[in-house]
Amino acid sequence: INPVVAVVGRPNVGKSTLVNRFIGRRQAVVEDKPGVTRDRVAYDAYWNGRQFTVVDTGGWIPDAKDRAAAIARQAEIAVDTADVVVFVVDATVGATDVDEAAVRMLRASRKPVILVANKADNNAIEIEATSLWSLGLGEPQAVSALHGRGSGDLLDAILAAI
Ligand code: GDP
Ligand code: MG
Repeated sequence: INPVVAVVGRPNVGKSTLVNRFIGRRQAVVEDKPGVTRDRVAYDAYWNGRQFTVVDTGGWIPDAKDRAAAIARQAEIAVDTADVVVFVVDATVGATDVDEAAVRMLRASRKPVILVANKADNNAIEIEATSLWSLGLGEPQAVSALHGRGSGDLLDAILAAI
């Protein structure tokens, strides 16, 4: 059985773009409007000769109602069934209240978490991303899922954790 990596975070931070980067093709649905991924969607991924399962999830928000609650619940199930969680934050925005709430959910899960500072498309944003140490999840891994910057180092960190 392959190790399972769940990709979670609030809407629009680039989770599906990152999943596409991991699987090397465009299959996870990327859109400018949040909430496109409703369920957990699993894909096979390979890196350095190792195989793992990567699970894309919908945007997690706290205290969600109705449809958003079902999406958040699916993300929580993905966390609970993962070996390691990749928690994605938007480095151009910094830590939001929703990110802080997600950190509390992740802590309660007791799963190992890798903090990803996505949308670090250039050096200035990458430097800005160091402020995400404040989330208390260790070193933020700065990446640009869109351009591929930092994704090899991130995959190395994920494989080291599984
Ligand atoms: P999700 O809702 O977290 O799955 O986010 P998506 O993957 O659907 O991406 C939301 C938006 O952010 C899209 O317009 C993406 O093109 C954009 N995006 C994702 N990753 C990056 C990145 O590394 N840099 C920039 N500039 N935009 C990104
Ligand atoms: Mg998505």
